[in-house]
Amino acid sequence: MISEKEALTKIFEGIQILPSRRLSTSQALGYFAAEDYFASLPLPAFDNSAMDGYAVVATSCKRGQRLRVTGEQPAGRDRRLSLSPGEAVRIFTGAPMPRGADAIIMQEDVTRDEAEIVVNTDVNVGEFVRLRGCDLSEGQKILATGERIGAATLALLASQGFTEVMVGGEVRSAIVSTGDELVKPGEKLEPGEIYESNSALLQALLQRCGTSVQSVEYCPDSQDLLTGVLKRGMQHHVLIVSGGVSVGEHDLVQSALRSLGVRIDIWRVAIKPGKPFLFGRFGQCAVFGLPGNPVSAFVTFLQFVRPAILQMMGATNLVLPEVPAKLTADLTNDSDRPHYVRGKLEDGKFAPVGRQESHALFGLSQSNALLRVAMGESFKAGEIVDIQVVD
Ligand code: AMP
Ligand code: MG
Repeated sequence: MISEKEALTKIFEGIQILPSRRLSTSQALGYFAAEDYFASLPLPAFDNSAMDGYAVVATSCKRGQRLRVTGEQPAGRDRRLSLSPGEAVRIFTGAPMPRGADAIIMQEDVTRDEAEIVVNTDVNVGEFVRLRGCDLSEGQKILATGERIGAATLALLASQGFTEVMVGGEVRSAIVSTGDELVKPGEKLEPGEIYESNSALLQALLQRCGTSVQSVEYCPDSQDLLTGVLKRGMQHHVLIVSGGVSVGEHDLVQSALRSLGVRIDIWRVAIKPGKPFLFGRFGQCAVFGLPGNPVSAFVTFLQFVRPAILQMMGATNLVLPEVPAKLTADLTNDSDRPHYVRGKLEDGKFAPVGRQESHALFGLSQSNALLRVAMGESFKAGEIVDIQVVD
């Protein structure tokens, strides 16, 4: 049995970062930048009005003053208007500032009187003017290699005129659920059988990582059948096998994988739940064997598979987000492995939820966060602990 840290090191050594590709920005949401991107335009790109109103010269503009309206500048092409003291230009949000103007008066703060306005407010230099470059300077980094591309990143790239972006590879994955007791949801259950739920779990977790799930297969505990199904699964970048990786006579995944020539780098990690976790590789394919108990599959996916997939996709941040929270109950880990306690993170507090056993799917469904309690570690209710945020 190896430590989580040793396991992650072996996994990172065993996987390959996929080649990057150029995508249209409209296709790039959720992928990771494969290059640094810099601003070629400042933001705003020119001084402009933050309001619908009147552009004025602030120093020569007092409350009660009358100004002559000499022109109009809507958002759009710069009409290159200019302005002297005693004059105003009708202006709209986003429109370029006329030469000589240094403030905007909101239209609500003037009384229009044909070709003139009366100013009903005090006016300060710079008021309601968005200065060129105040948000972003030319040359500033707008997207770093390995950063996830979100909605606002796409908007920022568009604001710079980009239509394409280099992103990391797309991981294509396959899921194989094993077990004689498993029945597909929707079909008839016989006594002793259960509905197969891990593929639903794993598919969702894979999709949330940005992976495309290409195949989901079910296989009974038969070495022959397993060999065929696993072989198909190994044609993907990532194969996730659930169940059958433990030590019972019906746990045939490891021997089936070996018979196919998979090199097993890891079997059994000091983690609770999830000890029988397996990692192997075959050519380009990274094979993860997760224990069949749903909570074990969930925890080992997040601790080992997720970082591996993110690395393959070119991400730099591989860990789950962590936040401090106040623990609501005493916790002690007297097992021989670090324990990932499932719980609910709410209003800055973390409350363990449900039965802390590896089959307890309902408790898992009610939780949104994990607390890692190291071997021999104890926490008291009220202590501030670091929580891994899952949802
Ligand atoms: P195994 O890892 O195959 O020994 O399975 C451990 C436990 O997880 C057993 O109670 C199985 O019935 C259950 N299990 C295995 N695979 C699944 C699955 N795909 N969906 C739901 N439960 C499963
Ligand atoms: Mg089984």
